[in-house]
Formats: sequence, structure tokens, C-alpha cells
Amino acid sequence: MTKLQVIALMDCDSFFVSCEQLDNPSLLGKPVCVLGNNDGCIISRSKEAKAMGVKMGMPHFMAKKEFPNAIYVSSHYQRYVEISKRIMGLITNFSPAIEQYSIDEAFIDFTGLRKLYKRSYVDIAKMIREEIKLKIGIPVSIGISTTKTLAKLASHRAKNGEGVYIIGRRTLDNELKRTKVSEIWGIGKNINAVMSKYGIITAYEFSQQSSEWLEAKLGIRGIQMKEELNGNCIFQINENEKLPKSIQNTRSFAKFTSDKEYIKNSLIYHINTSCQRLRALKLKTNCVRIMLRTKDFKYFVEKKALIQPTSWDCDIVNVALELFEKMYKKDLIYRSSGVVLENLINSSDIQMSLFTNNEKEKKKEELGKCVDKLSQKYKKNIVKIGYAESPKND
Ligand SMILES: [Mg+2]
Repeated sequence: MTKLQVIALMDCDSFFVSCEQLDNPSLLGKPVCVLGNNDGCIISRSKEAKAMGVKMGMPHFMAKKEFPNAIYVSSHYQRYVEISKRIMGLITNFSPAIEQYSIDEAFIDFTGLRKLYKRSYVDIAKMIREEIKLKIGIPVSIGISTTKTLAKLASHRAKNGEGVYIIGRRTLDNELKRTKVSEIWGIGKNINAVMSKYGIITAYEFSQQSSEWLEAKLGIRGIQMKEELNGNCIFQINENEKLPKSIQNTRSFAKFTSDKEYIKNSLIYHINTSCQRLRALKLKTNCVRIMLRTKDFKYFVEKKALIQPTSWDCDIVNVALELFEKMYKKDLIYRSSGVVLENLINSSDIQMSLFTNNEKEKKKEELGKCVDKLSQKYKKNIVKIGYAESPKND
């Protein structure tokens, strides 16, 4: 048998609010809401604000009317990033193997730490928790188990309890029985709908299905989830996960050309390819750069910042074509085109904070997922978004 892994998930409590309280202690113990997206909606709530009934994502004007006694503060994203970095740095002192999962979450490899610290996993988690509180001043919850999926579940339990929670072999079945499928990490609306159609409501029921059946319904992902729920670690802690700083796609044309539509379509093709990669890495871009090279190696480049981070092809195509209109000269002959997506950000870091229109953004994400599924199933770039017509060489 392989050595049992022990994985913890550290998750900061009401992170943005906690950061604001750190910088302004008069906010402690009060119903505080942090506003995102130009103060448009609520992106973080203190315990007291949650208890009042303030909802995540609620528009500011509505919340103000309904909860006039809550305190509303603007967000300071750079400051949150700074504090996040300090927390991640501190955790590394306890276990060198950590994987930052979002701005306020990290998986920590606990395997072997019991021997090292001569105390139980729960006590180690308490120690880390106290250290973060003492040295940085941010409250965190820590869930411990044998897989990422279970550690995530344990961290939810920790948040509603004592701040530290462990799901071990002995308690596993009971834990799964009182967990809904929809509460499992990585299960979205779609999977949940499929499962409930077959009467599978709890995580326990999910974990008891045959692998063949789960594979037929959900693909390989279904089996992986089952294994993770049963305590068998499939998703390893990935400490070295280095995310790219930019995503670039360039290609020479089959023939030198001045054909405007052809070049335009080549850019769109690059954008489609880049966006698929962006979504696969769960990243969004803030800035798009397009490049054209002429037959005699003259190089033209234009870039533009996007109003909000995106991984949706159409958002980028619109900006790129705008740039292209400025750059393109009909009397030049071109040899290649390229697209670079820059300033990449983790999707989960910005999910609530920067979106101007959450519903619309969610729809774009759903569409993106569909495109990626089709491309995986059939072939790359089968769905061409914003593609005018098939490129032809003159
Ligand atoms: Mg959190």
C-alpha cells in the first residue's frame, strides 16, 4: 500500500473584510461589507454582516437600502495581494510543500508532519492558525484529510466550527452522508443536475457508485471524484505549478498576403487557441497585444488594456479587431500574425471582485466551457468564435 497522504486546506475567513479590519481595527466585530467592481456589489462580508442577511454579490444600492446599519467599504486589491503573499510565505515555514489555490487559500502537504512536530495533525493546524493570527492578524480556517476534495470539505466544516476540522477514515462515511453532491469541490450545477436525475443526492451515494457507471455519466472526472471522496488521493499537491506570464500564438501564413479578411481570420484563430489555453489554466487576461510581420520583416505591434479581465474569445476579438483596423495597411504584404494575451490573473481571484455584470460573465464562462468540451471531443478550434469565413489565399 502506498503511504497515506495528509492534505490540509488553509482558507482565510472573510478575507477581504479581515484585511480591512487589520488596517482599521475599529471595524472589528461590526457588520462590514467590502465592495467590488467600482463599489457596485458586495464581494466579502464579515460574520456579523452574514448574520444580518447580507448576500454575496448583492448590488450595493440594494444592500444599503435593506441593511442601512452595515458598514460598506471600498476594496483595496493590491493590499489584499500583499497580505496574501505574507500568509503564503508564513505557511511555507511549516511545510515546504504548499500549493496556493487562490488569493486566500492554499493546500498544505501535512504528510509526515506529525513525526516532525510530535503532535497531532489537528494540533499542527491549530499552531499554524495561531501563528497566522499572531504574526499577520488574519483569521483562517484549516481542514485536514487525505485528499484535496476532502480537505476542502473539512475546511467548510472548520469555518462553521472551531477553525480546525479533520475528516479521517473512521468518520468519513458519516461526513459524506451529511454532504450534498452540490457541496463537493469541483461539482457544478451540471453534474449536480445529472446526479440528482438518478437520485444521487449525497456525497456518500456518489462515492458508492461503480466506476463504470460514473465514467459513462461524467467521464474520467467522475471516477476521480469518487476516488477522492473515498480518501484516495488523485489530485496531488502541485507545489511547482508555475503559471505563465503570457500566452502567445503566432504563425506564418501559407502564402504572403495582403488579404484583409484572411489576416483578420488568422488573428481570430490565434485568439480562439489562446482562449482555450487561458480557460484550461483557469486564467483571465487583462491586456491583448497583436502583431503583424510583413514580407520584408517589418514588425508592427499594437496593444490595449481590457476594461475587465476575461477569457472569453469575443471580448478579446473585439479589441483585437479594433487594433487591427488601426494597423492594417492594404498596400503592404504580410507574412505572419500573432496574438499575445498578457497580465494573466487567476480566475478565482477576480471572480466576484471585478466583474461588472456577474450574470453576463457567468454565461460567458459557460459558453467557454462548451467550446472547450467540443474542441476536446472533436478537434482543436472546431468552434470558431467571431470567425468571419474560412481563410483563403489569393
Ligand atoms: Mg476564504
